[in-house]
Amino acid sequence: MTGENRGTSRYDYLVVGAGFAGSVISERLASQHGARVLLIDRRPHIGGNAYDEPNEAGILYHKYGPHIFHTNSDQVVDYLSQFTEWRPYEHRVRAVVRNKLVPIPINRTTLNKLFDLDLETDEEAAEYLASRADPVADIQTSEDVVINAVGRELYELFFQGYTRKQWGLDPSELDKSVTARIPTRTNTDDRYFTDTFQAMPRDGYTAMFERILDHPLIEVRTGVDFREFKDRAHEIADHVVYTGPIDEYFDHRFGKLPYRSLKFDHQTLQQDRFQETGTVNYPSPEVPYTRISEYKHLTGQESDVTTVTYEYPSAEGDPYYPIPRPENQELFKRYEALADATENVTFVGRLATYRYYNMDQIVGQALATFRRIDERKQRDGLQ
Ligand code: FAD
Ligand code: UDP
Repeated sequence: MTGENRGTSRYDYLVVGAGFAGSVISERLASQHGARVLLIDRRPHIGGNAYDEPNEAGILYHKYGPHIFHTNSDQVVDYLSQFTEWRPYEHRVRAVVRNKLVPIPINRTTLNKLFDLDLETDEEAAEYLASRADPVADIQTSEDVVINAVGRELYELFFQGYTRKQWGLDPSELDKSVTARIPTRTNTDDRYFTDTFQAMPRDGYTAMFERILDHPLIEVRTGVDFREFKDRAHEIADHVVYTGPIDEYFDHRFGKLPYRSLKFDHQTLQQDRFQETGTVNYPSPEVPYTRISEYKHLTGQESDVTTVTYEYPSAEGDPYYPIPRPENQELFKRYEALADATENVTFVGRLATYRYYNMDQIVGQALATFRRIDERKQRDGLQ
């Protein structure tokens, strides 16, 4: 028998959440272990936050905001490439600052345009930035990272307002890892990412998820909330893989872990193009949204109309972002200790491990989690 050790339950695994974490784990368990998997999601669809669908005008848009795939991991590319072809796409972002549209990450072009300079080489740009930077000896916060690299004026223009809006916190209250996602460049490379692999799933994310989950041993049920039968979960399956918010699993026993949310305003406009790049950021505190993204740049779709999404940060709503700061990490650690002590439940994914991870990192995390399950199974099999 190639399947799991059969218990009395109908399924070997109950997987909670059909985003990248839950879908990748389900696929591995079914295809590599012959395990019977029930995958549920409380939303009416698979794909988690990466879900996309055509809207009424036929434009493929991302319901939960723009998702651009990029990675340096061959392992992740090889894995996902079993389920999708790719369309090469390098994301570019502009920021509206002092009524000018300039590249972000800050590069030589940004400096020249914003300050009417004529910096011609990397060395000149590096010297200019060094003359503005305010070295910080012990970089801890998201404010320190930026001030250390570019000084206060550029920090205020590009980062302070955006971050306050996005997180409801000042950069000085956030871990350095948040703004460290955005590099500073002295060349004129205006790509948002420099990863070795940058591409969009050719037919969209949802189509890719459908192929990942197209396995006879995987049963998918959407519109089903784990909270409603958590106490009976082990009657349904021998093992649970949980990808929802970790504090919710434990009924917020130690208090709520903060997650940041967003409201998305999707608009379809009767024009071919809305903006010159996939995303335009609005760091100004005067503007209530953080960024506008236009999907046709990402997907290459052709149409007379175009769909854009405005992102309005919010404290209320679906949990989208774990908030990286020391006190939240401490609270998470308390939940993590509970999770470690919970038998037959595996916690994986952005919400369950409270990590500000991109899609590729979540795929990598899910593959590593599967490898651990696999090793345990091999070990148990040998006993
Ligand atoms: P999720 O996709 O959140 O999936 C978890 C699923 O669990 C959800 O569908 C949820 O409904 C379900 N669930 C939770 N609790 C329950 C329950 N009790 N019962 C049933 N189901 C439950 N990453 C990139 O690499 N590039 C990008 O450009 C990018 N852009 C992003 C833009 C935005 C606005 C956001 C919010 C994220 C972005 N990301 C991006 C990050 C990306 O969305 C995540 O890395 C990835 O989707 C995480 O996958 P996951 O499976 O861990 O979580
Ligand atoms: N950021 C900023 N200004 C920008 C772009 C980013 O202040 O123009 C900061 C902000 O705190 C943001 C973080 O850098 O939350 C990470 O940006 P990224 O674009 O990676 O965010 P995501 O796509 O994950 O929302």
